[in-house]
Amino acid sequence: MTIYDPTDGSIDPRPRCKGDCCRGFSLEHPLSIVQAEWRKEQIDSSYKSFILDLSTINEMLIPLGVFQSQELFTCKHLHKNGDCGIYEARPKMCRDFPGPNPCAYRNCASHGPQPIWKKAWNWLRD
Ligand code: SF4
Ligand code: SF4
Repeated sequence: MTIYDPTDGSIDPRPRCKGDCCRGFSLEHPLSIVQAEWRKEQIDSSYKSFILDLSTINEMLIPLGVFQSQELFTCKHLHKNGDCGIYEARPKMCRDFPGPNPCAYRNCASHGPQPIWKKAWNWLRD
């Protein structure tokens, strides 16, 4: 039985993850490529970049620096409680994280905001 609850919420007594994977992440392509692709799209409206959701990704990035030869970023849409400020419109790379299977941790912030009724329901259910 999967632990993942797709409709958000949790009864897990452990604290909810604050979205650690959004606090520091790398990209599939270097920032210079992302920005170059974004400029191409601005100049030529018929140009379609190979980078999915390019516009969203380009504007959300906050560079943190280079660590162990890898560019790291955080995201301007990450709220302090771990919620994603553009949850419904987040780019595919975020929807797909951490891989083909959703994170199994009940309190994963990527499952979306957790209303109180949902927490109560989960508490009763478990
Ligand atoms: S768009 Fe949302 S899910 Fe993606 S990195 Fe930013 S806060 Fe995280
Ligand atoms: S996948 Fe979920 S539990 Fe893991 S770090 Fe990201 S938000 Fe937290």
